[in-house]
Amino acid sequence: MTPRTYGPIRLTEGAKGAKARPIGLNEVKLSSEGQLGAWQQQNAHDTVPHLMNNLVSTGALANLQKLNTPEFEFKGMWFSDSDIHKSLEALAWSLHVLEDPKQIEFLKTATAAIEHAQEADGYVYTWYQGVHPDKKWQEFTMGHEMYVAGHMIQAAIAESRIRGNAPLMTLARKFADLLVRKFGGSNKVEMCGHPEIETALIELYRETNEIKYFELAEKMILARGHKTIKRPTETEFHFGDSYLQDHKPVLEADTVVGHSVRQLYLNAGVMDLYLEKGDERFLKMQERQWEDMVYSKMYVTGGLGSRHKDEAFGDSYELPNDRAYAETCASIANFMWDWRLLLATQRGRYADNMERALYNIIAGSISVDGCKFFYSNPLQYRKGHFIAFDTDASERLGWYKCSCCPPNIGRIAATFNHYLTTTSVNAFSIHLYSDSVINTQTESGSKVDLTIKTKYPVNGIINISVNTASEFALKLRIPEWCKGNYQVSIGGQNLAATTDENGYITLERNWEAGDNLVLELEVKARFLKPHPLIDASRGCVAIQRGPVVFAIEQADASNPKDDIEEFVVDASQEIQETTIELPGYGKIVGLLIQGSNSPLVEPMRFPYAEKISRTNSASTKVTAIPYSLWGNRQKGAMRVWIPELQK
Ligand SMILES: [Zn+2]
Repeated sequence: MTPRTYGPIRLTEGAKGAKARPIGLNEVKLSSEGQLGAWQQQNAHDTVPHLMNNLVSTGALANLQKLNTPEFEFKGMWFSDSDIHKSLEALAWSLHVLEDPKQIEFLKTATAAIEHAQEADGYVYTWYQGVHPDKKWQEFTMGHEMYVAGHMIQAAIAESRIRGNAPLMTLARKFADLLVRKFGGSNKVEMCGHPEIETALIELYRETNEIKYFELAEKMILARGHKTIKRPTETEFHFGDSYLQDHKPVLEADTVVGHSVRQLYLNAGVMDLYLEKGDERFLKMQERQWEDMVYSKMYVTGGLGSRHKDEAFGDSYELPNDRAYAETCASIANFMWDWRLLLATQRGRYADNMERALYNIIAGSISVDGCKFFYSNPLQYRKGHFIAFDTDASERLGWYKCSCCPPNIGRIAATFNHYLTTTSVNAFSIHLYSDSVINTQTESGSKVDLTIKTKYPVNGIINISVNTASEFALKLRIPEWCKGNYQVSIGGQNLAATTDENGYITLERNWEAGDNLVLELEVKARFLKPHPLIDASRGCVAIQRGPVVFAIEQADASNPKDDIEEFVVDASQEIQETTIELPGYGKIVGLLIQGSNSPLVEPMRFPYAEKISRTNSASTKVTAIPYSLWGNRQKGAMRVWIPELQK
């Protein structure tokens, strides 16, 4: 076996809470015939260079390069160093896909810039160094010092795992060691208002075997929740303790609240702690939080954090469609959290949720050319939408004032290989299906050599060929959305295979080279209704086909004069599949839905009346497209939840 190139999580040998382990990035080759493989290629060829260009043009790189020189002039958000680190992480991971000399050169240039800016004790954060040196280590609520350190550590880990030697690691460890000296041991610990350092320090421990990093992360996680992050001097701070994830200790917090990205990054760290130590109390509380989130605070698209104010989770069932915040980073953070829960439990519901985020919000947050991004991901767009901030944009933008999302998409796409399968003792599990070649082994050493051919999620046919004879249990996830309608066959012979309590079928046998296994999942378009307490979607239906949620857009009205916002759907009619051409993307599955345009009989000025009369226009059809592809044509209205025709 060639040595394993580890991805974002490398569990230690003795990880007590892990039921399964990720395989190496180099052990799964994604084919560009599949959606994830094609996306990963585009990420390497287009998205990563786009990130590099913007780090230069926005001045983020110059903040580091010009520090301590007369030309220094700070540009961007105070935490813009994190744009550099996150982009470097995306770039470094992506080198396993494409070893681009220009990208390697950029990595060296940026590393030299960080080295130039770093102080002798390891500190590097250009905002405080260059603009407010008096405020170093004074503003833990909004300062983001440790958040930035966390992203620097993660970039260094990516470079170390992909390139072997990592100049960035030397610099990142200097910063991490500074944190250990300041806050570790018997010193008073401080926590960052924006979690991120916790998961990074635990991964640094996994990478270096230095327990001091793990101990500091654990100390920070356990110290949270006592309302101590806010400084008495920070009188202007107007966010609550939940915004900082400092409202309740993690062992008491059974609901998701506050700033959604902060909540979910913290949870990734808590799960890393659990995976290593196996203290069941943490898992129990994390699973309760997950249920609170998925059962009452998540959009059908996998969007999280419904409130623009404080970028926060709303109340249960508070899920407005037009004013959905649903930040891209929140769904990415959730994807990372779900993955850790899946490693800990092997429960398919976490993979179901990863898939919902992946094929809807995360896929939808990037344009078909790979270089424009959504920050917030509403489920309804009204024509003439008023835009107050770029985070409320009506179209994908190339960059943002706060550009956390674009590099986050880059680092996820570069590491898709990490998130698809796991190994355990004599078993190999496939959680997410994509066209690929897999060459790895189970934890007990059985060879796993498979070729997967599939167009998933366009259809649910997954062909798995065994290339080398071997004995192991193959576990295949049966997604929740296929409602138990699946068939599995080997060599054309149908098998009776039932799912276990985690939602997987297990095929245990002596595999022969040339064995051909076919899993067919029924991919059928369905109308979904909302929980009665989701007021914003009452009387409406959404459409889901496989894991993909659909939307209707003005561009698909059968008559351009029809106003898609007046369309009502007849959900008693069959949904018909069709193929349409999306410019710049190619052919996609569209769904023809039946309904009618129901304009008002008389225009209403005052928009409330005892009786509303709408005309019964002739029946018409509208083509729905995957939500992830909306906004790639002319601007116009869009909606996921469509009012139902009242009969
Ligand atoms: Zn973001």
